[in-house]
Amino acid sequence: AKYIIVTGGVVSSIGKGITAASIGRILRSYGLKVAAIKIDPYLNWDSGTLNPYQHGEVFVTEDGMETDLDLGHYERFLDVNLPGESNITTGKVYLSVIEKERKGKYLGSCVQIIPHITDEIKSMIRKIASKSRAEVVIVEVGGTVGDIEGQPFLEALRQLRNEEGYENVMFIHVTYVPYLKAAGEFKTKPTQHSTKELRSTGLTPDMIICRSETPITSPIKEKIAHFCDVKKEAVINAPDVRSIYEVPLVLNKQKVGEYIIDRIKLDVKGAADLSD
Ligand code: ADP
Repeated sequence: AKYIIVTGGVVSSIGKGITAASIGRILRSYGLKVAAIKIDPYLNWDSGTLNPYQHGEVFVTEDGMETDLDLGHYERFLDVNLPGESNITTGKVYLSVIEKERKGKYLGSCVQIIPHITDEIKSMIRKIASKSRAEVVIVEVGGTVGDIEGQPFLEALRQLRNEEGYENVMFIHVTYVPYLKAAGEFKTKPTQHSTKELRSTGLTPDMIICRSETPITSPIKEKIAHFCDVKKEAVINAPDVRSIYEVPLVLNKQKVGEYIIDRIKLDVKGAADLSD
């Protein structure tokens, strides 16, 4: 399988989940089989005991797992039923590693974040990839780049890119571009800083998707391309829309699908059909 890793910067709740699901929807419209994984870097084992007022409602998968609501977005956008293991939490990763340690699986070695936790993360991701038989696996990393909790996951994904190869893994960074009314300008600095933060973990974004209140202008896209070192056609704008179901159409207009297909060499025939 090929992997698309989606990270977020600047602020939380910028719409990473909707953006990632929309990308999946576009790729599905090319006839590709798409699977999705949501990583939640908290220590809870699942979302079942989280306060819905803070965290949003729990989404229950067909096999009974209580997961993050983003899995519901994926199921609706991709028209698939995801298994509960598509929601990877820090709690699940650590519990699995500690259970192995108690069984003596690592006898003799000191159990560490690298390699034991990162190996466990990679193996959970690969297990879903192979079980789903998907051609593309979208991996959304919850939280914001720079969070302490997210670091083992970003490190595992960095290793995944090395092991799977450049043509099989790409990184998409979702950021926020604020508009300062008093200055009458869009501001790219938060995007520059969060991209720098992402780079400090050893990850290079291939595409930057900028959320904004209103559409950003072409010179702003150029500026982001320049300062964040991505191609101009890989700077994409996802402004606020009335219905989230418009997001795939907005992204498709900016040729997101074409760029991804070319970048990770996906085998497709014809054009995207988003008519349904
Ligand atoms: P994250 O995964 O970054 O926490 P979500 O994808 O859950 O964020 O989105 C947060 C909120 O923003 C949701 O209520 C979602 O419906 C809304 N949202 C996301 N993208 C857009 C958009 N382009 N226009 C309007 N609302 C959006």
